[in-house]
Amino acid sequence: MDERWRLSGLIQLRPLIRISPSHFTFLKKCNLRSILASNQQDAFLPLNPQAILGTILHQLLDDANNGQIKTLEDFNNHLDLKIQRQDESLYSHWINKRHFPLSEKAYHFDIKVKKCWRTISQVILPNNEKSIMNEPYNTSPFGSEKWLESSDKIVGGYIDAIMHLDDKVAIVDFKTGKLLKEDGSGQINEEYKTQLKLYARLFFDEYGYWPDQLLIIDLDGKKHDISFTASECNALMEEARTLFNYINSKIQNKENDLKDMYLIFSSPDPDNCSYCQYRPICPNYWISRQQVPDPRWPNDVIGSIVEKVTLGNGLFHVRIKDRNTNVVSSIRGLNPDWHVVLREDDNDIAAMSLDGDLNMHSYKENRSTTIFAIDPNFVQEILS
Ligand code: SF4
Repeated sequence: MDERWRLSGLIQLRPLIRISPSHFTFLKKCNLRSILASNQQDAFLPLNPQAILGTILHQLLDDANNGQIKTLEDFNNHLDLKIQRQDESLYSHWINKRHFPLSEKAYHFDIKVKKCWRTISQVILPNNEKSIMNEPYNTSPFGSEKWLESSDKIVGGYIDAIMHLDDKVAIVDFKTGKLLKEDGSGQINEEYKTQLKLYARLFFDEYGYWPDQLLIIDLDGKKHDISFTASECNALMEEARTLFNYINSKIQNKENDLKDMYLIFSSPDPDNCSYCQYRPICPNYWISRQQVPDPRWPNDVIGSIVEKVTLGNGLFHVRIKDRNTNVVSSIRGLNPDWHVVLREDDNDIAAMSLDGDLNMHSYKENRSTTIFAIDPNFVQEILS
């Protein structure tokens, strides 16, 4: 069996290189997830097809903004090429293969693609015609995909565009996902505001004056103005520096052993962990979901197989006894083509991202379900 299907222990942590404005809020919500991502540690759970599509649409908006897409034909050519490359990557990847082909697995694929073209044709292309974004880089702040970083290089990232709009200097960010908070307030997500305010401060560091406007353009082509003050942008920059220094000094000084660092840096809660691709190896996640029961925790089960049956349709039905609570969970509909672990003799497994079924402690497979074998070393290092 490919060893990637086996969880065997914790992975070393390396210091952050910098903080990107677009990830600062995630870093604050859970340091550990962002450290592992920044260390380019391979994810343990599949990518979300919606997020993959969002990234592609964002690239198309960038391509239009920097003049590579001028017509519908250009748009379709760029889209086809990106989807083809992405599909090849999905198909060849050990856990993402089930999201191939993207056009069938991402919800509302056609609608989102149409919206993307509408934003390009109605907002970006008309603006490109009258913009002065093509001035040489060194003499102008204007342009697309501009790199901005603080003088100490602790905070830095690419901003989608710096535009001259209605005689104002505008920092522009394209967003293809959910823009508004889920509480129904109609407010824009705080993380997006934070991102743009950090970019405003980076712009000030680079050019010596503040932008006039911070704008988000959504997939409906709507512009959202983000109000800001210099003092709040400065405060965010200080907060980012402080967090960067705290994290890196802890990692570099090695005052704590690896498991303690995982515990110190992690902030488990159902909202944080549900979308985290590192949760199979996160000790605090497993501890917290057991200590603080909450129906919003992801449907993950870890323990020993007490029964494994192949049904007439070729799918597995397994019953797993939780190693701490002794609760027995049943999982049906597991496809042996996807779950290589079930074709082996491993008894200790972690079944991640299940769908709830009819009764309590009963689950069924979905397209993101991933099953790992767990080593005795993993149990000792992570779960005990
Ligand atoms: S599982 Fe939760 S606590 Fe652990 S790294 Fe992921 S988000 Fe953080």
